[in-house]
Amino acid sequence: MRIISVKESTIPLGSDKENAAISFQAMTASAVVAEIETSRGRFKGLGFSSYGRYGHGGLLQERFIPRLLNITDEIIGETSIQQMANVWDVLMTNEKEGGHGERSGAVGVLETAIWDAVAKSEDLPLWALLERDVGHSGSNGLPAGKTAIYASGGHYRSGSSDAAEVEEEAKQGLDAGYGWFKLKVGGATQAIDMARIEAAVKAVGSPNLIAVDANCAYGEDQGATHLSEIDQIGLRWIEEPVNPLDYLALAGCCQSVKTPIATGENIFSQADSRNLLHYGGLRAGKDNLQMDFVLAYGLTEYLRMFVDAEALGWSRKDFMPHAGHQVALHAAAGLGLGGHETAAVLGGPFSGVSDDTMVEDGVASLGDAPGAGIENKPTLFRLFHGLL
Ligand SMILES: [Mg+2]
Repeated sequence: MRIISVKESTIPLGSDKENAAISFQAMTASAVVAEIETSRGRFKGLGFSSYGRYGHGGLLQERFIPRLLNITDEIIGETSIQQMANVWDVLMTNEKEGGHGERSGAVGVLETAIWDAVAKSEDLPLWALLERDVGHSGSNGLPAGKTAIYASGGHYRSGSSDAAEVEEEAKQGLDAGYGWFKLKVGGATQAIDMARIEAAVKAVGSPNLIAVDANCAYGEDQGATHLSEIDQIGLRWIEEPVNPLDYLALAGCCQSVKTPIATGENIFSQADSRNLLHYGGLRAGKDNLQMDFVLAYGLTEYLRMFVDAEALGWSRKDFMPHAGHQVALHAAAGLGLGGHETAAVLGGPFSGVSDDTMVEDGVASLGDAPGAGIENKPTLFRLFHGLL
């Protein structure tokens, strides 16, 4: 494979949604198009930032794109994994270990664009390329090409924390075929949050079909009381109760609550993942690991995280990537992960799944179009028009 060109565009996302930690008003994202050449011809791969962090234009334009374009030799490797590991080594030339900052997201969006191009060069959907070259876990009860899928939403909108709105959104999510619904907590008073949770549970009929995401809001003393109250409901999981890098606090949460914990979306490397699993108190087989490889150096680094996790008794079905982007959908379906998150009913580039993906009875069945399917997701694909 040769790298022919890489282009990036930083896109404003402007949205009135909020969670306990941030507003999405000023959020940006990077759209990346990477063109490769193989013995089969030239192929353009598309990559798009993950949700909830900013675009990576500066880092990409200054360091990572020039570094990749400086390589005029062929990037070799007998399998896609080996080729992509060599791409990864080029991207990380002259980069010190640790201190990931925003760098891991810049590499992640660029690396996943190249995976899209590689899958297209093999005339395979990304999920089938991953199944062929990495292998499916077989541990999630679904065949390759399918994944469990859930709807996430229930954001705080500016000036509104209306339980009726959350109830309607949860109902719409399950009516649309998603398996369960996740809403935000920790960004309003506990009374408002409990009313929102109650409304969501009422809409879907079971607390096990409702998860909550606190975006690290329960790190203070009062948080333990709120967490304990939520723990009594029997929800599917409580996500990011505290800062995921505060392993001591996280381990305390895991000891004090019986509800499964989900965390990892702010874990950006194999080393961070290893620390989380060793010191965060998480319970293999019960808790969910949400590392988001678009934020965390791409799929190549993600595959390395499995190795540590499996040695500690976790399986790939315990992994459920954050954010609901197309590459995560394909990774879940190709590698046999625990499921896929998607913002089901809110509209916009992050919402839903590609048009050739069927969602029914809590399962997404992916299509056969080559690549990761951004072209089949019109609200997202239109953001690439200036680059193509
Ligand atoms: Mg989250």
